[in-house]
Amino acid sequence: MDAQLLEIRDEVFRRNPGETEFHQAVNEVFESLVPLSARHPEYADAAILQRICEPERQIIFRVPWVDDAGKVQINRGFRVEFNSALGPYKGGLRFHPSVYLGIVKFLGFEQIFKNALTGMPIGGGKGGADFDPRGKSDAEVMRFCQSFMTELYRHIGEYTDVPAGDIGVGGREIGYLFGQYKRITNRYESGVLTGKGIGWGGSLVRPEATGYGAVLFAEEMLKTRGQSFDGQRVAVSGSGNVAINAIAKAQALGASVVTASDSGGYVVDEAGIDVELLRQIKEVERGRISEYAERRGASVSYVADGSVWDVDATVALPCATQNELNDKNAAKLLASGLVAVAEGANMPCTAEATAMFQEAGILFGPGKAANAGGVATSALEMQQNASRDAWSFEHTEERLTDIMVNIHESCAATAEEYGMPGNYVAGANIDGFKRVADAMLALGVI
Ligand code: GLU
Repeated sequence: MDAQLLEIRDEVFRRNPGETEFHQAVNEVFESLVPLSARHPEYADAAILQRICEPERQIIFRVPWVDDAGKVQINRGFRVEFNSALGPYKGGLRFHPSVYLGIVKFLGFEQIFKNALTGMPIGGGKGGADFDPRGKSDAEVMRFCQSFMTELYRHIGEYTDVPAGDIGVGGREIGYLFGQYKRITNRYESGVLTGKGIGWGGSLVRPEATGYGAVLFAEEMLKTRGQSFDGQRVAVSGSGNVAINAIAKAQALGASVVTASDSGGYVVDEAGIDVELLRQIKEVERGRISEYAERRGASVSYVADGSVWDVDATVALPCATQNELNDKNAAKLLASGLVAVAEGANMPCTAEATAMFQEAGILFGPGKAANAGGVATSALEMQQNASRDAWSFEHTEERLTDIMVNIHESCAATAEEYGMPGNYVAGANIDGFKRVADAMLALGVI
């Protein structure tokens, strides 16, 4: 990094103390921008970098609710409206005890560039709460969502800010949030949230989109080396919406997917993960991955508290959470004959692990590009809501596939143009940044 970039980066760190995940996300983007800022001095003249790192608006609010025992509980809610140069703020809500401002800002920052890469008219934002949905009854989750929306509703809207799901927020939560928004505003404003259910404004393929998209992106990367998913041995982390659909798509393309995990441990299923059983346990029963091993029988081993990245694989799809794959995991995977990694989660690989994959010359698809299929399909949901239409599964999946192929192509072309062929991290960061920066230049100092 040159002196000017370093100075701006350090000022961002200083202004946002203690937000380590946000610092990590900013640092990664800045590292990629060295060749761009040399070619485009107009960005520095307009202080684009300084402005892009400062959210347009940050909202922090109290979320009081009453649990089933009648006790009052308090959580903290967030919405960071990061950048609206390309469209209304767009990005998910995460409900997880680890959520604090630094996590929301790292996710919101990533979202700006990810959303730009989709080519859809959406800005970047993110939100959530330090609420833990695990072990809560449906009624408790409903009361929490209603209280959360009672504050959030005044900040969002189909032309302003359009939240969706993320970790801990799925169809159930989006339903309760949408219901409360509708009640408070007296508007059936379908386009205010995405990830809605089919039958009340949701889009087909949205539930599958992030996982499918990550696999489609990985398939495009593999093609550049004359390979495909067919015959690969794939390790997937996580067992939520992204992981389950990544497993399904990789299997459909001929891969053998042998792992899934949750915060308690991981399973190794040498016969290939039974996706329907996994869906039943995780999505219907909201159970633990250990139950998968108990019910599937002899072919499966369950490892409590271990790392899923100890399992040999040729393709790794980290679909759990940030910084879940570190340098030690990377070394182990590389030694086991790894050819490709695509990030289904947001920033699942540490900076050290990412650097090791790139130095080893394996295919590495960063989350901004590889997991953009989810938000891209959210934008398709907004399009359907705006035209009061509902597309078929086939049509929507075709649109998703085109978007993923285009993202792959433009990241690859940008990396090539800036003298780093095959470097999808640089390609995604430069291409995403440029799209936002050019719009910001055109819109003036706002
Ligand atoms: N939370 C997802 C993401 O990280 C999806 C956001 C959305 O659909 O708005 O991109």
